[in-house]
Amino acid sequence: MSTLDLYALDEAALQAQLKDWGQPAYRATQIRRWLYERGVTDPAEWTDLPKALRGQLASEASVGTLERVTEQAARDGTQKRLYRLHDGQLVEAVLMPYGDGRRTACISSQAGCAMGCVFCATGQMGFARHLTSAEVFEQAARFSAELAARGERLSNVVLMGMGEPFHNYDAVLVAIRRLMSDLGIGARHITVSTVGLVPAIRRFAAEGLQVTLAISLHAATDEERSRLLPVNRRWPLSDLLDACRHYAEASGRRVTFEWALIAGRNDGEEQAAALGRLLRGLRCHVNLIPLNPTGGYGGTPSSADACRNFIDVLQDYGVPATVRVRRGIDIDAGCGQLKSKVQRRARRATPTGSP
Ligand code: SAH
Ligand code: SF4
Repeated sequence: MSTLDLYALDEAALQAQLKDWGQPAYRATQIRRWLYERGVTDPAEWTDLPKALRGQLASEASVGTLERVTEQAARDGTQKRLYRLHDGQLVEAVLMPYGDGRRTACISSQAGCAMGCVFCATGQMGFARHLTSAEVFEQAARFSAELAARGERLSNVVLMGMGEPFHNYDAVLVAIRRLMSDLGIGARHITVSTVGLVPAIRRFAAEGLQVTLAISLHAATDEERSRLLPVNRRWPLSDLLDACRHYAEASGRRVTFEWALIAGRNDGEEQAAALGRLLRGLRCHVNLIPLNPTGGYGGTPSSADACRNFIDVLQDYGVPATVRVRRGIDIDAGCGQLKSKVQRRARRATPTGSP
């Protein structure tokens, strides 16, 4: 990675670099227009730049560092891809088109994850490393460029791919600011999903952004939540809910709670009532996601009836809930699942190779 990565430079850094090269400041505007408005990432095609500068960019700079390894397209239009980072780590990014015109990218913040949630494919892999802000940003920028090139626009970004965004707080915050400033995505159209790192939630509230906060809840008692999400032992539900109330007040945004419905485990009326009591009065929304089965966990998704019952009970408590449609389910688009599959295949192909 000896070349200069243009995706890693915000506007000021790009201007500084061009100044170093003896170029006027407006070259930065021209380059950014190609990169972010027109989605043209080959400097050879940046026809309003002098030929010498195009040549210099071609030899000294690159646009991005992620290498696309595989891509799968689902029947519902979901595109899921696996990227290899410069050091060989693999991360997933997903693009989901919706009928109403929204185009939502789901991007990763870490290679692997240290939080160890038992049902999660990424958690089952363990932690490899944090992504840099440029690696986080590039996942969205690539989708944005591809959409722009065909006259569409990336409208939403969710940090719900691999990794725990608030465990990689600084890089994620820089990336979020660049989604806003460089890709033109409003804070309200960005969602950060966290397992519940309470100090980071409070710190995020102080940033003064109107980003949507999503909390992976999955259980409404400390006993059950600690079994599913070990992080709950450190920050139990009462602390977590306090931080959520604080975030809702500070940002003026409804908080989203995610709940993977696991048959016979957390999908009963009792659990729904416990959740209703916990969230009553808080401006929030519950996203129910039937469990995506993973290799390292024996649970199965709840039935459609159980989902409906769960929603009905929550309604009695005035807590709005919807079942999230599982996108791209025919292409392993659940968190961490494509990487798991590709690695299993690689292991079968090279039985004596490294892990
Ligand atoms: N680390 C962050 C964001 C990535 S996970 C977090 O945990 O919030 C994105 C969402 O997918 C989380 O709500 C997570 O709990 C959920 N998830 C993980 N594995 C799942 C599975 N097997 N089935 C359903 N949802 C799952
Ligand atoms: Fe990490 Fe989120 Fe998976 Fe938990 S659910 S292991 S925090 S990626």
